[in-house]
Amino acid sequence: MKEQNLSQALLDWYYKNGRDLPWRVKGGAHENPYVVLVSEFMLQQTTVKTVIPYFTKFMARFPTIFDLAQADLEEVYHYWQGLGYYSRARSLKQTAEMIVARGDFPQTEAEVLKLKGVGEYTAASFLALAFNQPLAVVDGNVMRIICRMYHLTQPLEDIKQDIKAKALKLTSVQNPADYASAIMDLGAMICTPKNPHCHDCPWQKYCASAGKSDVEHIPYRKKNEKPVRYGAVYLIKNSEGKYFIQKRMEKGLLSGLYAFPWCDNGTLQIYAKAAEDTGLEVVHVFTHFKLVLRLFVLEAESSVGNGLFVFPSAFENYPFSTLMKKVWKKFSLAE
Ligand code: SF4
Repeated sequence: MKEQNLSQALLDWYYKNGRDLPWRVKGGAHENPYVVLVSEFMLQQTTVKTVIPYFTKFMARFPTIFDLAQADLEEVYHYWQGLGYYSRARSLKQTAEMIVARGDFPQTEAEVLKLKGVGEYTAASFLALAFNQPLAVVDGNVMRIICRMYHLTQPLEDIKQDIKAKALKLTSVQNPADYASAIMDLGAMICTPKNPHCHDCPWQKYCASAGKSDVEHIPYRKKNEKPVRYGAVYLIKNSEGKYFIQKRMEKGLLSGLYAFPWCDNGTLQIYAKAAEDTGLEVVHVFTHFKLVLRLFVLEAESSVGNGLFVFPSAFENYPFSTLMKKVWKKFSLAE
């Protein structure tokens, strides 16, 4: 079957079965590129199910690109709290400022790639969904589908260009916006990592992996264990029962968010001697490494560096990362 017929078969399936999502329209490009932009940033490394409530609240507070461009960054972090990867919130706001400054939404790949926090995938997806451009939108879901369709068994890392070329050929020339959504839904609903539902798949008859025993193992990957870092976090309490928190720098890991003093490499010398080891640990997996944080407690009336003492009941007023929420939960449950 020709690629364009395959894409039409997928579109037919999508119009009947595709998901209704708050940032999605069926039947062509979205009339509001800002909606696409916000959803694309939120969906980077986060699932659709998690994003939906955050997206709804975010759009209610920042309904236009002008609202976001003018907003205070701390408030944007607040609405992002719990989604993780906070540098995305900062990049999205910077991107909104850039678009407002230039006066319109960029519509070429080269221009979109100049926006803050926009990589190849986000650029292609944005241009397909907002401007109906037939670009290869290739994320992990699409790679899995393409590898299975053509039964590609080499390690994924070695065949990315081939996958992209095949994905581009399959992309609907007539309706790239709907096709981009359709292939995402195929990956999320049918060609799932485990137990793909081949019987319900519009591509089953043409798929080289359907019915094969290794389908779940495709795509193959080179083994790559994440390195582990060991660090320490300090819960510093004063006589009023308040805890010391600090705002992290605007650059680096968990930037701009509030946190208990911590480091991801050994202990902080300034606190280490006086602090008591609780024996508790929190494990958190980042994109490039796994972090094991040991929890220490300390009683003090003042602390070093910029920060403030806050009652635990008021923590919700300060944007905390998921990591620090885990730390507090672990500590408060053990107390
Ligand atoms: S037939 Fe099965 S393996 Fe092939 S694309 Fe469809 S769901 Fe995936």
